[in-house]
Amino acid sequence: MLRNLILIRLWKRLIFVVYHGKKASRQHSLTEVKVLDINFSALPSPCYIVDERLLLRNLEILHSVQQRTGCSILLALKGFSMYSAFPLLGKYLKGVTASSLFEARLGFEEMGKEVHIYAPAYIEAEFDEILRTCDHITFNSFAQWRRFKDKVNNIKTKKVSCGIRINPEYSEIETPIYDPCYEYSRLGVTLSNFRPTELEGLEGLHFHTMCEQNSDTLERTLQVVDQKFGDYIKTMKWLNFGGGHHITRPDYDIETLVRSITFFQDKYGVDIYLEPGEAVALNTGFLVATVLDIVDNGMKIAILDTSAACHMPDVLEMPYRPNIIGAGNPGQYPYTYRLGGHTCLAGDIIGDYSFKQPLQAGDRLAFCDMAHYTMVKNNTFNGVNLPSIALFSEKEGIKIIRQFGYEDFKTRLS
Ligand SMILES: *Cc1c(COP(=O)(O)O)cnc(C)c1O
Repeated sequence: MLRNLILIRLWKRLIFVVYHGKKASRQHSLTEVKVLDINFSALPSPCYIVDERLLLRNLEILHSVQQRTGCSILLALKGFSMYSAFPLLGKYLKGVTASSLFEARLGFEEMGKEVHIYAPAYIEAEFDEILRTCDHITFNSFAQWRRFKDKVNNIKTKKVSCGIRINPEYSEIETPIYDPCYEYSRLGVTLSNFRPTELEGLEGLHFHTMCEQNSDTLERTLQVVDQKFGDYIKTMKWLNFGGGHHITRPDYDIETLVRSITFFQDKYGVDIYLEPGEAVALNTGFLVATVLDIVDNGMKIAILDTSAACHMPDVLEMPYRPNIIGAGNPGQYPYTYRLGGHTCLAGDIIGDYSFKQPLQAGDRLAFCDMAHYTMVKNNTFNGVNLPSIALFSEKEGIKIIRQFGYEDFKTRLS
């Protein structure tokens, strides 16, 4: 009980810190959203929990950009596909952007607003279904456009607007695996491969060259896009700025974003789309896990009922170190532990953290910012079960939306 109280106290302090940062830049007051009062010891473990109130804050910020500029913001499903939240997301956003037929279908069926799609190449056998579920299709090459052009033109029941992804060969991403402009990139048509004679029927250009970046990067990128592709943008109806805009981050410069959008709208008369994934769900969810055991092999190591490899793969892939409520950097508090998953992968390590009290088997930990690029990427490596998924709303409190079991593991195998 005492432990729980302490954890809840820490929890409140952390949320205060989170809001405090935002308060400074956006004049949100703490009273606008109550401090987090979720009793996470009531959750199954492990469990992702998304707080609708935090989601709403992000949506309000994104919506203000739409209102100020008239642009359209789409949710990139690749980053966040928690469809139980789609009714709420759909009240603010114009629709979704998909990376595959399945994502497109999910957006079509569960949100029912605009459905855009982009993939490096489309599968012939899936294309009729893509035409049924999508209203905007972006192609990655002129060869792909040529291959599917007739199918697009033959569709009579609805209007499908097509575009081509350009590669401006300018990005400020330092991790090659996340850099669409890296040498020999397969993503987007470079200026030297651009075919002005094949633009007939195409209504949009799309670029995606950013990752977790502020609007100063966008502004510099747009200068290059304008210089290289301005002549072609003139002939288009829409321009899609892709994702990677960290719009809901406390230090994000919204004024520069707004200026960048209106600059292109005014100069070319095009509709502007943004398709962030991460920014929609940034800082809205937690992964709650339990300590299973403590071992000591030169340092204290806590083994958890969650796994970096299975439940937060970006911790290994990105890589990054998630924050934990009430925990600090190694040595910051008296008790330092390495936190590891319960798979057999030697590198299934989340990181080193320190705590004010010694950890014990049964203790719960809450990892922060676990809504995006987690549920969409998790897996059952080692036969590890998937975390439950819960939603917290002011009205209904905790709602456990989904729990997984052996059947979910088994049905992916044969
Ligand atoms: C990944 C991706 C997005 C979303 O990126 P975020 O970093 O989550 O904002 C949008 N568009 C395309 C084409 C992408 O590949």
